[in-house]
Amino acid sequence: MVDRSGIKKPFYRDVVKGVSNVTLYNFSPGPAMLPSIVMKRAQAEFRDYAGLGASIIEISHRSPAFLNLLDECIARFKELTNLPANYRVIFIPGGARMLFSAVPLNLMGRKPAQRALYSDSGEFAKQAIEEAQRYGEVQVIASSRDDDYRGVPAIASADLDPEASYLHVTSNNTVYGTAYPELPLTGSLPLVVDATSDWLSRPLDFSQTGIVYGGLQKNLGPSGLALVVVRDDLLDSSSPLTPLMLSFRYHVDNNSLGNTINTFAVYMFKLVLDWLAAEGGIPAMAAQNQQKSKLIYDIIDASPFYEGCAHSHSRSHVNVTFRMQDTKLEAKFLKEAEANGLFALQGHRFVGGLRASLYNGMPLAGAQALAEFMKGFAQRHS
Ligand SMILES: *Cc1c(COP(=O)(O)O)cnc(C)c1O
Repeated sequence: MVDRSGIKKPFYRDVVKGVSNVTLYNFSPGPAMLPSIVMKRAQAEFRDYAGLGASIIEISHRSPAFLNLLDECIARFKELTNLPANYRVIFIPGGARMLFSAVPLNLMGRKPAQRALYSDSGEFAKQAIEEAQRYGEVQVIASSRDDDYRGVPAIASADLDPEASYLHVTSNNTVYGTAYPELPLTGSLPLVVDATSDWLSRPLDFSQTGIVYGGLQKNLGPSGLALVVVRDDLLDSSSPLTPLMLSFRYHVDNNSLGNTINTFAVYMFKLVLDWLAAEGGIPAMAAQNQQKSKLIYDIIDASPFYEGCAHSHSRSHVNVTFRMQDTKLEAKFLKEAEANGLFALQGHRFVGGLRASLYNGMPLAGAQALAEFMKGFAQRHS
């Protein structure tokens, strides 16, 4: 039997049991909180989807009800992103890391050199690089590793070798709380973006990209499924060894239904997209994420008690990483935060410290509650 005796964490709701006027906010980096209105809707129709008398997880992925849902979901995504007509939207099972393999398998062979360029901007970028090295030559043209990934490394246009097959960039570095303020312009070299943690949290000009991919579990839905936006001209250079289930061309030709797609994830994603559209779309999300993160960064900047981990020009609007000047106080901070209904604020296990993830689903009131708590905590312990 697995020994879980070290895991003492009670469920969020139990921690604040008996404190009647505390609202719970979940700052988890992923899987992450979804809008409460979406969760309620999913709960309400879980056992009876669209009057069918069965759940969305109990009907065929080839049934008209699901096919309709899938079509609507993709149409909604295209509409929200203003996606140009020469891009396809597919789902690939396995999440974002599956794309660390799928991208080189599908693209490395675009050019005879079988070489890809990568920016090493954090933990997931590093994992993507290590995986790509199995399939071809990888050239790391920018890295902030020597700076402990506190900023995103600049990409020099002189390094954009046209004989390379693509350039891979991680737009938001979830672990370190950094983000590219703008993506590089790469001309004819296809730009591949891992956008797992900032999908639809800020505008992205898809027309400047070759492929944008990511898991759904940070801004958009449940884990285990990746969404991939791929430009038409990049569908046909895959290595003959590419597993069928990782082939972009195969998923395009089969409308992502080459195997049994994760129907529940698609369903949740569709609910999130409907919510997002009703809230004013991506510009509204970006404005609110800016506002939420500013509340926290302002407190970090105003007090020597807290220290931001990311350089200010590289700060993420969805993952705010910070430490306490007196790091011994961090455990106390986490404990008191939980007693106040503020959960999952511990930093990534590789870096420690604290991290507040403020994805689209986190309401402004959650960031306000955290800001108030941080202010009070600093006063009590300074
Ligand atoms: C979370 C994350 C991943 C890993 O996603 P999985 O779906 O677990 O494979 C990859 N890239 C980035 C930027 C992430 O934030």
